Amino acid sequence: MSETTIERMRLFLIESPIKMKRLQGVGNVMGTVKRVLVELTASDGIVGWGEAAPWEVFTGTAEGTLAALQLYLRPLVIGWPVKRIRAAMMAFDKALVGHGEAKVALEMAMLDIVGKGADLSVADLLGGRVRDTIPLSFSIADPDFEADLARMHAMVPAGHKLFKVKTGVKPHREEMANLARMRGDFGDKIDLRIDYNQALPPFGALAILRDVEQVSPTFIEQPVPRNHLDAMASFVAALKTPILADESCFDPRDLMEIIRLRAANAISIKLMKSGGLHKAQATMAIADTAGLPGYGGTLYEGGIALAAGTQLIAATPGISLGCEFYMPHHVLTEDVLEERIPNRDGAVVVPDAPGLGIRVSEHALRANARILAEHPA
Ligand SMILES: [Mg+2]
Repeated sequence: MSETTIERMRLFLIESPIKMKRLQGVGNVMGTVKRVLVELTASDGIVGWGEAAPWEVFTGTAEGTLAALQLYLRPLVIGWPVKRIRAAMMAFDKALVGHGEAKVALEMAMLDIVGKGADLSVADLLGGRVRDTIPLSFSIADPDFEADLARMHAMVPAGHKLFKVKTGVKPHREEMANLARMRGDFGDKIDLRIDYNQALPPFGALAILRDVEQVSPTFIEQPVPRNHLDAMASFVAALKTPILADESCFDPRDLMEIIRLRAANAISIKLMKSGGLHKAQATMAIADTAGLPGYGGTLYEGGIALAAGTQLIAATPGISLGCEFYMPHHVLTEDVLEERIPNRDGAVVVPDAPGLGIRVSEHALRANARILAEHPA
């Protein structure tokens, strides 16, 4: 019997409107975000979807991702046996350096197809689920803090607990006052996390972080630029609050160096950094061994990539610090899913359906997003 292969690949470079401005240490996002959607059709007719959501100040560009897929990966993808996912990822790595966002988009689409064909979820394919819900973190990043505080006053009574505050964007005294107000209004009902997105120079950072410790955050994420691992290690040694590495930790090699230098107590796992679901699990295996828990981070991903992230976390015990998959419910004005993945009691509910557990509507894609490029046109 011949193997099922990938017969067709369609690519969409899209631009989606967002509801609110986002100020973050590494860069600001306003108005729209760009993403690349991938649709693969297998020779048995099953369709799978993937999504690449690069961010130009963090990983790469959506336009570069589209070119990588269209010019360099398409010739490998067409005709590839759809179940041979690890071999495909090895072939992609051999053909093209970097471009992890393009590769993970293909991997999630292949897993979607294989899952649908076998009536298994992607979490089942990744080892089976160890959790059915994932605590959801909302990021406090609106330049209008009062608007964020009003959101919190609506979300906390609805059961939402995790909030990550993007700091290093406004004057330190103003940020301290905002943090104190959040603790004052909600006390222990919220689990506060802090994310500097590399905003602090190492010189003088420790004094600022000691101030921030006064509001008892669960962790402080990426206080200094990614290459300053010595400074990160000094914070790990000096502070009682755990330090989480995000921009400093893209892949297993970064993580090995972090562990060697004791430069973090936890890491952020993002599919757009790891460039693969299996690669993310491989990174977490190292983190597990070193005793570092993982947090489910994102860039500006839509429903397809977040479905893949949800399936990954469901099947990866070490990613135990929750996820920040709040974009579809709180920030994007549209999405391409027929139904969004439900949030309940401040948590993402892992879908039960096969594959990624979602249904994609091309109608919604064409009606709501701006399609900047499409291959084949
Ligand atoms: Mg971060």
